[in-house]
Amino acid sequence: RAKANGKGRVEVYEPSMHTDVVRRVELEAQLRRALRERRFTLLYQPVVDLSSGRITDVEALIRWRDEGGALVTPAEFIRLAEDSGRIVQLGRWVIQEAVRQATRWHRAGHRIGVAVNLSARQVATPGLIEGVQAALEGCGLPPEALTLEITESVLLDGVESTVSRLRAVKEYGVRLAIDDFGTGYSSLAYLCRLPVDLLKIDRAFIEGLGRDDDHATNCGKLAAAIIRLGRDLDLELVVEGIERPEQLALLRDMGCQRGQGFLFSGPLDAAGVQTLLDRGPIPLRRGGVDTPSAP
Ligand code: C2E
Ligand code: MG
Ligand code: MG
Ligand code: MG
Repeated sequence: RAKANGKGRVEVYEPSMHTDVVRRVELEAQLRRALRERRFTLLYQPVVDLSSGRITDVEALIRWRDEGGALVTPAEFIRLAEDSGRIVQLGRWVIQEAVRQATRWHRAGHRIGVAVNLSARQVATPGLIEGVQAALEGCGLPPEALTLEITESVLLDGVESTVSRLRAVKEYGVRLAIDDFGTGYSSLAYLCRLPVDLLKIDRAFIEGLGRDDDHATNCGKLAAAIIRLGRDLDLELVVEGIERPEQLALLRDMGCQRGQGFLFSGPLDAAGVQTLLDRGPIPLRRGGVDTPSAP
């Protein structure tokens, strides 16, 4: 089949287009049911102090348990949830659940922070601060224990209301992080307008560290420059995606305090985090690490 489109233009119908649409509609319906049936779950990835191996925070990462019981990653549904607007409801649940879980760890004597990822749509919609307050006050968790991670795309819209909403959350005491720092646009300009506490350096800059080619050398120089920038601006830094001991060693030499990555631990369920916390600092032997793997 081909469909006429305007004056004499013909769009060729590709069978793959049909498949995509069907898949989308099907996922949409599943997402709706998943929200109703609470089929979402959070995993938590430790953020580690690079000198002591202590876990300072965990980042909540959403997973969707599909109807066959398999865990679906956010890459496959966050976009869909954004397009349909369901991300607002979903995002509110993530904040509530992460705060509830962090409160349990605090009660067990582990005063770690918890970080939650926000999507652009969530910040563009009124109600963010109310959701955050309700979650924190409902549990009695101090606001400083919660970090909200935004990507530069959240700021791309440049709407004044986005900035003022984030300022309100910050004034309430919650911490703000720029996620995937260095991969977006106009990030530096936004650092002037937003009271940011923390930069999370994207793993694109870390990947090449310790390798011996031009690409790796450039990555290393950029990583070092971003780390210096963060320090000059008095911002905390977390490096994402540390996978190899050489990366850890180099990052420590560059003066980076904290990091996250498969070298230390992948995302774990709440019980897995509890076990890791009870065990004490993650041993960083000559850059080597000895941890259980992700579930
Ligand atoms: P992100 O916030 O930058 O999270 C880091 C992602 O990198 C996670 O993928 C994590 O599992 C993965 N990762 C961690 N360490 C390593 C490593 O050493 N190597 C490699 N290759 N990857 C590593 P995940 O869980 O699939 O999440 C992907 C993205 O989905 C997140 O990126 C975040 O932008 C988004 N996301 C996750 N949960 C939520 C949520 O609750 N709400 C919203 N709006 N977005 C979320
Ligand atoms: Mg993040
Ligand atoms: Mg990130
Ligand atoms: Mg990232």
